[in-house]
Amino acid sequence: MGSAAVRAAFDELEDRLHEYLDNVELIVRKGSDESRLSLVAVEVPTLLALARALIREHRPDSAGHCASCGHRWRRWWLIREPWPCAVVRTAHQYMTNPDRVLAVCGMPDPTDDD
Ligand SMILES: [Zn+2]
Repeated sequence: MGSAAVRAAFDELEDRLHEYLDNVELIVRKGSDESRLSLVAVEVPTLLALARALIREHRPDSAGHCASCGHRWRRWWLIREPWPCAVVRTAHQYMTNPDRVLAVCGMPDPTDDD
């Protein structure tokens, strides 16, 4: 990585991201019902937009490589990241069962005909 100033800026960025997530987690775990409703109304859409943006940015290109991830060295060759890249694989790990969201909340699947 570059200079100490760049490293400090990256550390600050990472700290801010973790602080945001820690605050969301704090409200989920220890917040009042009112604060949780505010979280759902304001921050859940933000987190959804984040997840959608990451998935959109990491789509495959026409050659089957991630359109967003750069090149990396594998032994002696510089290769492009194949799709699904680590970002998409991680998202899939956390969002592998879309029906669970509805089931946990006791909501019927809107795509069911009955
Ligand atoms: Zn990617």
